[in-house]
Amino acid sequence: MSAHLTTVAGVPVDTRHFIGGERVASTETFTDVSPIDGSTLGEISRGTAMEAAAAVAAAKAAFPAWAATPRAERARILHAVADGVEKRLEELAIVETCDNGALLRSHRRGVMPRVAHNFRFFADRLLTLGHEDFDTRGHTNHVSWDPAGPCVLITPWNAPLMLATWKIAPALAAGNTVILKPAEWTPLTASLLADIATEAGLPAGVLNVVQGYGSEIGDVLTSHPDVRRISFTGSVPTARHIAASAAPNLTPLSLELGGKSPLLVFADADLDLAVDLAVEQYDNAGQVCLAATRILVEETAAEEFTRRFVEKASRLKQGDPRDEATDIGPNIHPRQLEKIDGFVQRALAAGARAVIGGHRKDGLYYAPTLLTDVAQDSEIVQEEVFGPVLTLQTFTDEEEAVRLANGTRFGLAATVATGDPDRAARVSARLVAGTVWVNCFFVRDLRAPFGGSRHSGVGREGGTWSFDFYCDLKNTVTAPKGWNDHG
Ligand code: NAD
Repeated sequence: MSAHLTTVAGVPVDTRHFIGGERVASTETFTDVSPIDGSTLGEISRGTAMEAAAAVAAAKAAFPAWAATPRAERARILHAVADGVEKRLEELAIVETCDNGALLRSHRRGVMPRVAHNFRFFADRLLTLGHEDFDTRGHTNHVSWDPAGPCVLITPWNAPLMLATWKIAPALAAGNTVILKPAEWTPLTASLLADIATEAGLPAGVLNVVQGYGSEIGDVLTSHPDVRRISFTGSVPTARHIAASAAPNLTPLSLELGGKSPLLVFADADLDLAVDLAVEQYDNAGQVCLAATRILVEETAAEEFTRRFVEKASRLKQGDPRDEATDIGPNIHPRQLEKIDGFVQRALAAGARAVIGGHRKDGLYYAPTLLTDVAQDSEIVQEEVFGPVLTLQTFTDEEEAVRLANGTRFGLAATVATGDPDRAARVSARLVAGTVWVNCFFVRDLRAPFGGSRHSGVGREGGTWSFDFYCDLKNTVTAPKGWNDHG
């Protein structure tokens, strides 16, 4: 077997970059470790400025031909990529589970089908993009969606392939070329995607994958003058850094960042539904940007809600994410676990009470935690933990509920549980959030805009909004024959 192949759960994965249609190795590597058991999954090429610049050059060289490829042909190739994802769905699912510890059953039934859907949706959407034509004093205006150029896409580890392809698919559909920088904790499925794209007939240089540390190669990518778009999903501090790095070139940015979303439970809600929605926030061991980690319950319902919550949460099965019966897997990395526990211990020291959890378990597992007696201005209520840690606060009326819900610097999502449709409409209208769910959670449609307000992000992607970002919109105004408007 080649020195550049590793085998994960029986699946061979190339550990090198993918640049200009070729596999390229760096001299240095970094070790990719599974959060499930700490085993080494592979020695991955550790990108340097040289490979990062080569990837941008490859994307630049491939751009004119891909941009000129007819839309129908681009769409056909993206559907072929989706076919490849579906064909290798089981392999992608198990490799991603080994790499980031998220549940295999979720990867099989939710995440990987969504990866394929990302390609199909944006391929089809491309073909429906209208050419808006209208008349101005006899002149025709023709609005077109022009490809912008090479796009740098930087993604996190909590949903690696889903978040990468949610950017790659519209970027490629739009006629752009891509440099993907996956998170260093989860490099594997991006490499498998490069194989799938090649098999699907995506031309060399259209999709490039550079592995490595953001701190080492990020600046080369984000400050590069040939890069026309940067789409980033990750943390607020990294977003600030990227925005500063992109500023000299005024490179347009799309930023999808963290959250501290509220779940508002009114006393008129179906309490069992509200409890289901609350317990669902432990999904992916709490490593979900959209997670409603702040539970706000109307005072009169708080005692009963808490009783039912504890009963349901105590039935959650924590363990190996490859086991179909497991509900909560490990957290991603010792550093992340340290961070989670730091937040919890500081909250407890400040007077919070752990209704459940509040401590580590073996390995990288953290006990599902619910903290109460927390102040609105405390760290645990204001900062994103990104682990299985929820807080519970109470409110007495709608006014207070909205004030608490909107009382952080984030604005990614909010969930409202109520049996009163008028209240649902009133409260939703006042919430600062990119997405509001009423009596449901995580229902996502690619036609909808997605993104965050305040420190949860800049811009929206999804549906036509993705093409707004990834395209250079142009209006061409043509005079009628023989017309002289300036005469
Ligand atoms: P992170 O910001 O540490 O890293 C994200 C990516 O940025 C990684 O690929 C990393 O290598 C890269 N990076 C790091 N330094 C860089 C630099 N200087 N230049 C360029 N790239 C650099 O975030 P994370 O810990 O991997 O992800 C967790 C965060 O992502 C959480 O805050 C979570 O809420 C957020 N998130 C948001 C969404 C959303 O859609 N809003 C979705 C998932 C995760």
